[in-house]
Amino acid sequence: SAKTAKNWRDHQLTVALRVRPFTEEELELAPTKIAHVVEDNMVVLLDPTEDPDDILRANRSREKQYVFDYAFDAKATQEDVYQQTSFLIDGVLDGFNATVFAYGATGAGKTYTMLGQDNDPGIMARTLNDLFTAMEDTSENQVYKVTMSYLEIYNEMIRDLLNPSSGFLDLREDAAGNVQVAGISEVSTKSTREVMRLLTRGNKERTSEPTAANKTSSRSHAVLQVTVKKRNRVRNISQEIRVGKLFMIDLAGSERAAQTKNRGKRMIEGAHINRSLLALGNCINALAEKGGNFKYVNFRDSKLTRLLKDSLGGNCRTVMIAHISPASMFFEESRNTLLYADRAK
Ligand code: ADP
Ligand code: MG
Repeated sequence: SAKTAKNWRDHQLTVALRVRPFTEEELELAPTKIAHVVEDNMVVLLDPTEDPDDILRANRSREKQYVFDYAFDAKATQEDVYQQTSFLIDGVLDGFNATVFAYGATGAGKTYTMLGQDNDPGIMARTLNDLFTAMEDTSENQVYKVTMSYLEIYNEMIRDLLNPSSGFLDLREDAAGNVQVAGISEVSTKSTREVMRLLTRGNKERTSEPTAANKTSSRSHAVLQVTVKKRNRVRNISQEIRVGKLFMIDLAGSERAAQTKNRGKRMIEGAHINRSLLALGNCINALAEKGGNFKYVNFRDSKLTRLLKDSLGGNCRTVMIAHISPASMFFEESRNTLLYADRAK
């Protein structure tokens, strides 16, 4: 990858946008395309609610353009998207922490990007695959140990997706400030197929229930944590063990509770999701400011940001991939997502 560990600090935050193809369901409704990727880093969103006469009068207010580090259109492959995150691997092998987020409304393509399908895996399995390969390449003098955990945060509660019967788990912080999930299962495997099997099975355990606006909606954040421990093959007293953590996170749907006509339980879920996405946005926003003062970043506002406390900012790298549908019926969701991602830059 072009971005090496040397210029680690230059790439603290990368914000990308992915516009997925129309789904079968959308195509049945003869959808209008309003999201257009016009450059490899720019997307234009048309506002279908504004007066079309404005365009005739050459008033281009109906268009709004957004610029990110990368913009992927419907033709972008899983490999294309993965290529722009793979630079994280070098740093994690050197003991730095990194996080990849998939952000967007329900149905926008988050799980497709992160998990993908068995025959065309997403970022999670591709990253693990390359981590194992990189470890083998450099293993002459070093010993690496890679473990993975997969959990969900639902209504501010943590569940182990690889061992769902273990109930709700607590977040702990040791004296050195390392954040840990007490009792979470840590799995070690080198087979990409096995990784995909574990993730797919874990994903079925995620809390997802029907809402008024969508058939199914993921109400939880799914968090894959990969830990890489490295030590020199020749043991000596002063030997150093380096630990790098990589989080890959399929966030809960970002649509607002108010928009989905939710009541009772659904409304409480919505409030929790909004709060944690807001807390996350605030943290990323603060970190994005060059030389930002981390003292004022409030990680305690949500379980998600508490879990990521030692993996955002400082020497850490963050990639956010925002997702939208190209269809006019999702204009509000797409605009909100673009604004959130734009604010994070
Ligand atoms: P989310 O996780 O954001 O709710 P999904 O990832 O489940 O959304 O995507 C919704 C639907 O769109 C799924 O049927 C998925 O297979 C499809 N889809 C999403 N992104 C793409 C893509 N880039 N290419 C092809 N199909 C996609
Ligand atoms: Mg999903």
